[in-house]
Amino acid sequence: MSNQYGKLYVVATPIGNLADISFRAIETLKQVDLIAAEDTRHVKLLLQHYGISNKIISFHQHNEDKAAENLLEKLRDGLSVALVSDAGTPLLSDPGMPLVRKIKDAGLTVVPIPGACALIAALSAAGLPVTQFSFEGFLPRTSSARKIFFTERLSVPTTWVFYESCHRILVALQDMATILQGDRQVVIARELTKMHETIIKTTLANALELVTQDDNMRKGEFVVLVEGAAKINKNEEDLTSEQIKTLTILMRECTIKTAVELAVQITGARKKLLYQAALDLEKTKKT
Ligand code: SAM
Repeated sequence: MSNQYGKLYVVATPIGNLADISFRAIETLKQVDLIAAEDTRHVKLLLQHYGISNKIISFHQHNEDKAAENLLEKLRDGLSVALVSDAGTPLLSDPGMPLVRKIKDAGLTVVPIPGACALIAALSAAGLPVTQFSFEGFLPRTSSARKIFFTERLSVPTTWVFYESCHRILVALQDMATILQGDRQVVIARELTKMHETIIKTTLANALELVTQDDNMRKGEFVVLVEGAAKINKNEEDLTSEQIKTLTILMRECTIKTAVELAVQITGARKKLLYQAALDLEKTKKT
């Protein structure tokens, strides 16, 4: 792997099942001059499993800028580098984006070595539309920020996907249920590729009940997928999700009274409905 300049290989590693790695990934990890890893101890175990001994350096979000500069120098010196994260595809809710940008900006080569990714694995088995989807990464950590996040996505018509930890899966679903209708389809994809892999497609209301009642459904790693909004708001007396979105945006800039008056003019919805929705939104912001 020698050239005038070295290349950066972005290598996907397993998300649970150690067999989920490509031959090319293993070859690359053997042949590069060094491996930049999020957690050096973690990657050592992985390398041991495949009988690879290679030089590892630390590359995590707290040293990313400095380490990226350092790696760029090494590539300029002709060394080849593999970037790996603790699990799955680097950059996807993992470190690496500033490094890849820096290397592209410098005109050097970045080579993807594709493989496991929890987002894609979950999408492939969820049974929700995948022609268009949005990936949201991890949800905000506070309840009020999560409710704003869900409110802003009320009318998104395509599937949306997020990562969640076992510590917050229940509160995330509880917050979602205060904003979205209970009949919205969601998929909880838990412990993918591992012994206790569970992929459940059901309504939001059922998912919340399941996660509340079954302790096991609050253990492990989670991807949550949510059906797009196309089929909601069937009741003509309800505001459409588009009308609620307009109101939400206006409420960020104006008083409730002004936001409601402007929303009436913009959307043509009934003032009484908009005013009630504004009070509900205000309440969720405070909880
Ligand atoms: N880069 C990784 C990828 O390609 O999927 C994601 C890294 S992110 C720091 C870790 C999060 O991904 C976990 O908290 C969880 O939400 C999700 N995740 C990773 N492995 C998973 C698995 N086996 N099953 C379900 N979710 C998983």
